[in-house]
Amino acid sequence: MKVLVAVKRVIDYSVKVRIKPDQSDVDLANVKMSMNPFCEIAVEEAIRLKERGEASEVVVVSIGPKACQDQIRSALAMGADRGIWVEHDGPAGGLAVAKGLAAVAREESPQLVMLGKQSIDSDNNQTGQMLSALLGWPQATFASAVRKTDAGFEVTREIDGGLETLALTGPSVVTTDLRLNEPRFIKLPDIMKAKRKPMASQTPEALGVAMTSGVTLERVETPTERSGGIRVDSVDALIHALKHDAQVL
Ligand code: AMP
Repeated sequence: MKVLVAVKRVIDYSVKVRIKPDQSDVDLANVKMSMNPFCEIAVEEAIRLKERGEASEVVVVSIGPKACQDQIRSALAMGADRGIWVEHDGPAGGLAVAKGLAAVAREESPQLVMLGKQSIDSDNNQTGQMLSALLGWPQATFASAVRKTDAGFEVTREIDGGLETLALTGPSVVTTDLRLNEPRFIKLPDIMKAKRKPMASQTPEALGVAMTSGVTLERVETPTERSGGIRVDSVDALIHALKHDAQVL
């Protein structure tokens, strides 16, 4: 079984995001970039499927600028077998990314495509769902457990009321939630080994995909500063504060 994992390059989760002075976008100059944390969980799960003998190959794909190769290399250092970099500079719409991933999936014919449930920069939570629709494959989003079955996959997913288990038949799309696993720590020898693993490059043109976006970014603003809270020592004081200070009652 081949597993294709989509990984996205995003601002590292620990970075305090700055906005460009002209508010045209987030400032990425000299900012630490990393693999989207949910993608890391997807890579880890694919590698665990391989370690359990259920997957035979783990292929990683990323769409973006040349620097995306760093995130593909990180996935290879974790244990993925090979990478595919789809070269694209500039903004890419969610649908265009999903179409690019669908084109790679059609070329690679994996039995499973794994993605993060959401990227922490744009917070879209849409690529896996659109990919499943484009391919006509079943999907299970927010996976907290993935098991291989004879027919396909059994996926437990986190929903508001608890856990739901879905049975997927045939090639499937699964997006990962936080509690699926804890990604492994990459060791130095693995980074060296990853340098020798194959990484192919592709262009959107060769895949037959136009990387356009139907969304225009108008302006980015910092959230308004929250004012500090106050402590009250009785229920009466709380009600008084809610009525007269906060004026929410
Ligand atoms: P999103 O729908 O943007 O929140 O992203 C959800 C998931 O889609 C990410 O965690 C990745 O697995 C995948 N994805 C989004 N954008 C890209 C990209 N440019 N390259 C590869 N995978 C991506």
